[in-house]
Amino acid sequence: MTAPIGLLGGTFDPIHVGHLRTAIQAKEQLGLSEVRLLPNHIPPHRATPDSAPRHRLAMTRLAAAATPGLTVDERELKRTTPSYTIDTLIELRTELGTRPLCFIMGMDSLCGLDKWHRWHELLDHAHLVVSHRPGWKPELNDTLAGLYQHHGIQDREALHRTPAGHIFLLDNPELEVSSTQIRDCVRRGNNPQYLLPDAVANYIRQQGLYSGSVV
Ligand code: ATP
Repeated sequence: MTAPIGLLGGTFDPIHVGHLRTAIQAKEQLGLSEVRLLPNHIPPHRATPDSAPRHRLAMTRLAAAATPGLTVDERELKRTTPSYTIDTLIELRTELGTRPLCFIMGMDSLCGLDKWHRWHELLDHAHLVVSHRPGWKPELNDTLAGLYQHHGIQDREALHRTPAGHIFLLDNPELEVSSTQIRDCVRRGNNPQYLLPDAVANYIRQQGLYSGSVV
């Protein structure tokens, strides 16, 4: 079976080292052929100021261009309506046949997984690979603990043997970085350097993102 493909979804507003180190660690630890960064539509309930999809896409492209092994999957932003992860995974499963797919997420996302649309179907189409994140202990509610008990594995090779169905916790250093923190930093007129790639920091400055007005 060919090496698994990784997929890391996010709003990436902006993309930062927490996302990028997670992608690199997953690729290297699990022997993934590539990690596709998947910028999402921002759900309507999210607070402003959020940057426009074209800016989030541009920043994601800049980050991927600077990082070997990372690519950008633009499908969710190209749709005119917000899409659910399950729809994207079903679409990718059709494209990939039986090739393993690892959907990568932070521990905060795993802790809220049972609120996702058709969450119980996600593992039919992909493995879930979870990175540790400061402030988020693997304390799952009963439903998710049951899911982990059933699907959790420690053998990374198992992710290569089946197309989907396992949950794997990455062994990654926790990086205390969030997009919220970077937006706040820029809004206060401070320097976000080293929290994100230089090319992305330059783009934010050139485009005047997060400086108070909604772009
Ligand atoms: P915001 O602060 O705007 O909520 P965020 O920093 O959480 O954004 P997202 O784009 O919402 O970033 O996250 C995309 C994915 O990356 C999620 O699965 C999230 O858990 C994960 N992630 C984000 N930051 C980190 C980090 N520092 N370490 C590990 N995973 C992270």
